Amino acid sequence: MANSEMNQDILKVLVTEEELQARVQAMGDELYEKFAGKNPLFLSVLKGSFIFMADLVRACQVKSDVEFIAVSSYENATSSSGRVKITRDLQEDITGRHIIVVEDILDSGNTLAFLVNYLKARGAESVTIVTLLDKPARREKAVHADLAGFTIPDEFVVGYGLDFAQRYRNVPYIGVLRPEAYA
Ligand code: 5GP
Ligand code: MG
Ligand code: MG
Repeated sequence: MANSEMNQDILKVLVTEEELQARVQAMGDELYEKFAGKNPLFLSVLKGSFIFMADLVRACQVKSDVEFIAVSSYENATSSSGRVKITRDLQEDITGRHIIVVEDILDSGNTLAFLVNYLKARGAESVTIVTLLDKPARREKAVHADLAGFTIPDEFVVGYGLDFAQRYRNVPYIGVLRPEAYA
């Protein structure tokens, strides 16, 4: 195992590297069955999904394109409803395309509820939601993942693309931070 400056900040490992690898391959196989011959567009929601995206597209050997979108979600000051803003928009026409949205984690559902509407408004033929992690305990919007890697409890996780204050994205497993690491 390589040296790590970050392992000491992790309280516990929720999903190991081996579990990630096996599950992502199984997800790739499932998407192959569904999308072979359909030329789907894999759409990574930045930044959190970048590592999952890289592994998933290699686990699913269909003829496909990749695209990236960046959104930021923030709480409305007067109500608890989340608002979502696009910070890096699509660079290509998605009219008539089968879109596979690749997300790191489905939490409140605000981000994906917004994105599904947005992609349909931009003319997508179909929108399939693929998320590595699903945290159903905190759902505010009725969003359902078509394919989810792991269902996790209501704990803040980092690694495999997911950050805390932009750190820990390069941790190769999914873990829970020690409270001291938030200081
Ligand atoms: P939403 O609440 O809109 O479903 O999720 C919005 C975003 O919040 C996710 O895409 C992810 O970037 C972030 N998020 C939610 N839960 C966690 C978590 O446990 N860890 C990290 N690092 N990010 C999270
Ligand atoms: Mg995300
Ligand atoms: Mg983040």
